[in-house]
Amino acid sequence: MLLSLLPRWKTRQLIAASSFILLVACAEKPTAADALPLAPAQPAPVVTLPGTTPDVSTEIQPLQTFAQWQADFRPQALQAGIAPDTFDRAFLGITPDMDVIKADRSQPEFTRPVWEYLEGALSPLRVRNGKKLLEQHADLLTLIEQRYGVDRQVLVAVWGMESNFGQFQGNKSVIRSLATLAYEGRRPQFAQDQLIAALQIIQHGDIQPEAMRGSWAGAMGQTQFIPTTYNTHAVDFDGDGRRDIWNSTADALASTAHYLQSSGWKRGQPWGFEVQVPPGFDYWQADGSLRKPVSDWLALGVKLPAGTQLPVGSNQLSAALLLPAGARGPAFLVLDNFRAILKYNNSSSYALAVSLLGDRFTGWGFIAGSWPKEDLPLSRSERMELQNLLNSKGHEAGNPDGIIGANTRKAIRNAQQGLGWPADGYPTHKLLESLRQQ
Ligand code: CA
Repeated sequence: MLLSLLPRWKTRQLIAASSFILLVACAEKPTAADALPLAPAQPAPVVTLPGTTPDVSTEIQPLQTFAQWQADFRPQALQAGIAPDTFDRAFLGITPDMDVIKADRSQPEFTRPVWEYLEGALSPLRVRNGKKLLEQHADLLTLIEQRYGVDRQVLVAVWGMESNFGQFQGNKSVIRSLATLAYEGRRPQFAQDQLIAALQIIQHGDIQPEAMRGSWAGAMGQTQFIPTTYNTHAVDFDGDGRRDIWNSTADALASTAHYLQSSGWKRGQPWGFEVQVPPGFDYWQADGSLRKPVSDWLALGVKLPAGTQLPVGSNQLSAALLLPAGARGPAFLVLDNFRAILKYNNSSSYALAVSLLGDRFTGWGFIAGSWPKEDLPLSRSERMELQNLLNSKGHEAGNPDGIIGANTRKAIRNAQQGLGWPADGYPTHKLLESLRQQ
């Protein structure tokens, strides 16, 4: 079989950056429900453009065929408790999937602006469908709210974002995708752990191997759980004995509720709310890692937009100031429930989309501030150039990998401060231009 001769490419140079790339470049959730550690909300638009050509120009060094990899992996799976016949049945006819490798290697040059991402996420059709489903499943949602203490609007919003309410769950064989990634991906150990978890699910009898379908990254079903999250959080809510997040709406929504409950969701609390930042504000404070009571933010001059009110009881809640498009765009105070959504998918754009979608179901969730639409996000090569320029001027942006992480944001703030600009840490063409000319 030709594909079994596929060489194992040498991709070590990509591994270091890979987990963050998943955060920033693939916010349309190749790994929704990924159990990534909670990081501060990223004040950057973070979405891949569809149809971006993947960069697969990697040096090739044959190390191992897929058949060899499988033979090495089998005893490890058995040692982890997988029965030989479960393993052999799941791997029957499995070959590497080139599309999965391409998707895993993809390092998109362009990112979609956050306002475009939100426009797609909050489409009137999705809002209408969500409202209908809230009515249709009202009794079920009441039971789930009672059991898990997670509000129905956020459950339906996550459902809408993850799979368009079950319509787009991904149609790839999860075993094949994860085997491909364990053999050849940028995070082989992560993929191998997921693969063993997937085999455990099959062994448990929840789903047949051929019906276990999902995204290229192994996110499965209506909730897009990765297998380890499934094992810790999927529930059989309809009582048929199987945790079926693919075909049972009750199981899918209850599993989502269980995950959000574990992530610290507090029933009845807001996710956050839009605010306005006063002139002369110290933008160093707009950082996901900096949290203080809402009342402290108000004392600093942060205001609510005209015609809106502070959500009842939120005065003492801990909040961070989120600027998804920098100082020139809308601002939000985000609370604990926002952080719970980030545990589902660690992208502030995603969490904002879920939050606003949930609000739209009840007629809210419209943004008063305006987006700086002439400020298109920097491309990947421009971000790398920016990092190089920052480094060359002593601002310590770290490894120029095109990823705007904590170090780069701090370096941007320092450069902005030196220029007398608001130090929001947000990378713009104007800043890049200015550094080029310095
Ligand atoms: Ca069930």
